[in-house]
Amino acid sequence: MTMDRVVFTFILLVIFLLSAAVYAELSKGDSVHGFKLVEKRFVQEVNAECFYFEHIKSGARLLKIAARDANKTFSIAFKTIPECDCGTPHILEHSVLNGSKHFPVKSPFDVLAKGSLNTFLNAMTGSDITIYPVASINDKDYFNLMHVYLDAVFYPRIYDDPRILQQEGWHYELLSKDSDIVYKGVVYNEMKGAFSSPTRELSYQVYKHLFPDSPYGFSSGGYPSAIPRLTYEDFINFHKKYYHPSNSYIFLYGDADLNKELEFIDREYLAHFEKSDAVAELPLQKPFEKMKKVVASYPLPKDSDASNQTYLTLNYVVGRGDDRALVMALRVLRQALISRESAPIRLALQKAGIGREVSGSIDDIKQNVFQIRVQNANPEDADKFYNIVQETLRDVLKKGLDKEAVEGAINRMEFRLR
Ligand SMILES: [Zn+2]
Repeated sequence: MTMDRVVFTFILLVIFLLSAAVYAELSKGDSVHGFKLVEKRFVQEVNAECFYFEHIKSGARLLKIAARDANKTFSIAFKTIPECDCGTPHILEHSVLNGSKHFPVKSPFDVLAKGSLNTFLNAMTGSDITIYPVASINDKDYFNLMHVYLDAVFYPRIYDDPRILQQEGWHYELLSKDSDIVYKGVVYNEMKGAFSSPTRELSYQVYKHLFPDSPYGFSSGGYPSAIPRLTYEDFINFHKKYYHPSNSYIFLYGDADLNKELEFIDREYLAHFEKSDAVAELPLQKPFEKMKKVVASYPLPKDSDASNQTYLTLNYVVGRGDDRALVMALRVLRQALISRESAPIRLALQKAGIGREVSGSIDDIKQNVFQIRVQNANPEDADKFYNIVQETLRDVLKKGLDKEAVEGAINRMEFRLR
């Protein structure tokens, strides 16, 4: 080892220790680069010191998990609440990645996908959230990815170029002068493909009727026939309303220098915004007076036999998603009641000859949805399906759950979480 190398290593070590020391000594209420430390805690499960900050000027929230992991991760999320079936959150997710103030190229996303050292690069739209996560083990690459993503969400080219909405959302297309005018668009085509699956249509119908007074009744991805109702004005207003730091949550994970991260995010982006109190809130759906029964249809190929092609589902709204103990309990119940091979609801439905596939799911959005589903059934089985599930649940209530099944489900869940 040459002397230069020793000195270099020493300097690096000192810088690391200094930076680590500053943050180790930071206590609640302290400010650094415009961020106020709200909470600091060592979290055993992730074996790391965790810092929760609030950006004073813009109202943004930031969580850093300072794990000793080279796979540095950045993500910014916005609460995006759909106001119609037009798929505005989803179209915006695609559109902001079509160039921005500092990166005015047509598709920075494709450039990054090809030319960066990223270990993860994507964007997702959920029913009430849009997330932009990136990860890299290379420090320079990580900061570059962060720069591109922050620029995309806060300064997208959509304000200057309406063609981005047309390309990513919808537009008319005429291939020849004699052909029909059709709708085209990246998200329009994607959602047409997605909704060609009967389970997607089923899920759309379930949420529409389970949440008639809540935004969860809308498809955040976009219902194909509704997508062409989206106007440029509504699209821009959606960005203005939801893509604000006060409505965002930034997440950092890994061994990048926290000081450098906070300094960059504050200087380049958050410091240019004023806190807004127009933070998006999701209203709760009130329970119904009595159970609702809904029949809906989906298309089958021409001349095909409709027997054994019906889906029967029973759906319950059960408490809130932020009650994590409840969500875990529901997952254990699903396993013990439905998913296991010898689960009582599965067995009872099989014995009665209803459908072919029995499954259960938990969706832990703001209000949890517990679903029991049978496919390859018939419409006349609907009442029988409902009665059998009710009888089985009453029976389980009397006899108790299979202890082994419950323990097995808890063990599997613990293993997966680790
Ligand atoms: Zn998409």
